[in-house]
Amino acid sequence: MSASGFQAPGKFKRLVWGFTGRCAVCGKFRLTAPWKIDGPRCDRCDFAIERKEGHFIGAVGMNTIVTFAAALAAVVVTVGVAGPNFSVPKVFAINTFFILLVSAICFPLSKTLWSAIDLNMIALEPGEVDPRYDGLHDTDDPTQ
Ligand SMILES: [Zn+2]
Repeated sequence: MSASGFQAPGKFKRLVWGFTGRCAVCGKFRLTAPWKIDGPRCDRCDFAIERKEGHFIGAVGMNTIVTFAAALAAVVVTVGVAGPNFSVPKVFAINTFFILLVSAICFPLSKTLWSAIDLNMIALEPGEVDPRYDGLHDTDDPTQ
């Protein structure tokens, strides 16, 4: 626990926070919005969601995987519901709308989840967040 009383979350809790759109450092809710694509910072702990240039390749990749899985599921369901005489333009239109909706909804969450995964792999550097939330450096070793 840091001097401010903040206790850094464990790796699993950090992933849950990322999956639910929370800040991976302090857990603040509604960290990102679809219109905040380029490098927002957490209002509470000043954590930059995009830690380094190119950071969001992983988030884009995760969003692409989810979107393709949703696209496959949507095609299977719509063709299955429509039966053998389905209308290709209607199935295409419905699936296009669904895929765009899924992608737009999942992208902010993929950003916060990717930040949590990245933070689990690469610890915070000193000065990266507000010192009150810098509990990730707390160790018993006074040299760190
Ligand atoms: Zn935060």
